[in-house]
Amino acid sequence: MARSNIGALLKHFDLPSSEAGASADGLESYNPADGSLLSRVHTSGAAGYNTVMSQAVAAARAWADVPAPQRGDLVRQVGDALRQHKRELAELIALENGKIIAEGLGEVQEMIDMADLAIGQSRMLYGRSMHSERSQHRMYEQWHPLGVVGVITAFNFPVAVWSWNALLAAVCGNATVWKPSPKTPLCALAVQQLCDRVLRCHGAPAIFQLLIDRGAELGARLAADRRVNLLSFTGSTAVGRQIAQTVATRLGRSLLELGGNNAIIVDETADLDLAARAIVFGALGTAGQRCTSTRRVLVHRSQLTELQRRLVHAYRQVRIGDPLDPTTLVGPLIDLDAVRAFERGIASAQAAGGQLLVGGKTLTRAGHFVEPAIVLARNDWDIVQHETFGPILYLIAVDSIDEAIRLQNESAYGLSSGLFTQRLQHAEQYLSHQGSDCGIANVNIGTSGAEIGGAFGGEKDTGGGREAGSDAWKTYMRRQTNTVNWSSALPLAQGIEFDIAP
Ligand code: NAD
Repeated sequence: MARSNIGALLKHFDLPSSEAGASADGLESYNPADGSLLSRVHTSGAAGYNTVMSQAVAAARAWADVPAPQRGDLVRQVGDALRQHKRELAELIALENGKIIAEGLGEVQEMIDMADLAIGQSRMLYGRSMHSERSQHRMYEQWHPLGVVGVITAFNFPVAVWSWNALLAAVCGNATVWKPSPKTPLCALAVQQLCDRVLRCHGAPAIFQLLIDRGAELGARLAADRRVNLLSFTGSTAVGRQIAQTVATRLGRSLLELGGNNAIIVDETADLDLAARAIVFGALGTAGQRCTSTRRVLVHRSQLTELQRRLVHAYRQVRIGDPLDPTTLVGPLIDLDAVRAFERGIASAQAAGGQLLVGGKTLTRAGHFVEPAIVLARNDWDIVQHETFGPILYLIAVDSIDEAIRLQNESAYGLSSGLFTQRLQHAEQYLSHQGSDCGIANVNIGTSGAEIGGAFGGEKDTGGGREAGSDAWKTYMRRQTNTVNWSSALPLAQGIEFDIAP
C-alpha cells in the first residue's frame, strides 16, 4: 500500500497528533481505508462558539470597509497558499475522507479555481442603473456585504464546498464561520491554518473562522443565531429541511445544497463509448459519495444489452483499495454507517426484484470497502428513489426519450442530469422547459464533475441553492435600491398628487 506519512502531514499543517491528550469533549479522526486513528482534535464547545461569533461579527464590520479589489487580493493569497500546499492538502483529504488522490488533487484545484474566480468577481460586483420615471432623478441599485455567513459542510467535499462559499463571501465583504463535518475535521483545520497564515501576513481582520463540533449542536446554533446573516448548508435533505425551518423562523436567509438522485439518459443514438465512460466515472467517483453521483441510468431498450456488458466489464476491472495508491480508482466509504447503508440498499433492491449484475459485497479487509454494484431495476421502486450514499447504480430500461425524461423527473430531487444522444431533437427537448427539471442538465457529459464557472445547485428536494460561478455571488450580498432627486421639486412616483402646504 502507498503510505503517506501522517505524522509529517499533521506537522506540515500544525495539527495535533493522535498521541495528543484527548479531552473529554475531543473529536477523533479516523482513516477510512484502515480504521486507524489519525488524530484527536479539540472541539469548540459553547464558550468557543461565543468567541468565534464575536470575532466574526467584528471582523465582518472591519472587512466591509476594505475596498472589494483589495479583498480580492487577500483571496489571491489564499489561492497562492493552496497552490503551494496542494499536494499535502490532497493527501490529507485522501487519508481522512478516503477519496482517491487524483480526486483529492482535483478538490484542491477546485478551491484554487474558485479563488481565481472570486478575485475577478471582486472587481465585478455590479449593480444596475435604471431610468427613473421622474425627471432629474437617478435610480440605481448597489450591493452591500451581508455580515456573517455561516457555512455548514458535508464530509464528501471536505474543503471545496467551503471555498465555494468562503472565497466569494470574502470578496463580497463578509466574514465566514465554518462548521465542517465531524468526519473530516483535519482537512478543515489544515485549511484554517493556511488561512490564518495569510490573514496574519496580510494584517487582515479574522474573516475566516472555524467551529469544530462532534455532533449537531453548533450547527443548530448557527442556524438559530440572528447574527448569521446567511446560512449556507450542504448536506442531506433531512438535515437541510430542519436547518431551513430554523432559519426561516427568524426570517433569515439560507442557501441549501442538499441530496440528489441523478440520472443519465442513454438514448437509441447514443455513443456508448462516451456514455459508458461517463457513467463509470459518475457512479464510482468518490466511491459513489458525491451529491452529483450517477445513481440511475435510463437506457433505451435497444442499447441495454451492450451498455450493460460494457459497464459490467469496466466494474470488474476497477481497482479498489488505498486512496493514496495512484492505480486505485475506488477508495473506501467514509465509515461503517455508510457500509451498512450500502448493504441495506443492495438488500432492498434485491428484495424489490432487482437483479444484481456485478459487485454488492462488503470486503472483509480492514477499512470500509465495498464492491460497487450495478442492479437491473425499475424506477418506481422505493429504494431506487432513495439516495443511498454509496456506489449502487440502477440500470433501468426505457422505450422512448419522453419516458426517460418523465422517469428522470419523477425523482424528488433535482440536482444533476445528463443525456447521451446524437440526435439534435432529443438534446434540445431535454434542455427545454419540457426536459430535465434539474439545476444541472448536460448533453454528452455525465452528472458529476461540474466546472465552477457555472452556478451549482439543484431544484426540489435538492434545496434550490446556487453556489460558485455565474451570479451566485449575489447571494452573499444585500441589494439596495437608491433613488436620488437632484431637482428642486418633489414629484411622487405613479404621478400621485399629494399637495399639502407645510
Ligand atoms: P449530513 O446531512 O449528515 O451532514 C452535513 C452537515 O450537517 C455536517 O457538518 C453535520 O455535522 C451537520 N449536521 C448534522 N445534523 C445537523 C443538525 N441537526 N443541525 C445542524 N447541522 C447538522 O450529510 P453528510 O452525510 O455529511 O453528507 C452527505 C449528504 O450531503 C448527501 O445527501 C449529499 O447528497 C449531500 N451533499 C450535497 C451537496 C450539494 O452541493 N448539493 C454537496 C455535498 C453533499
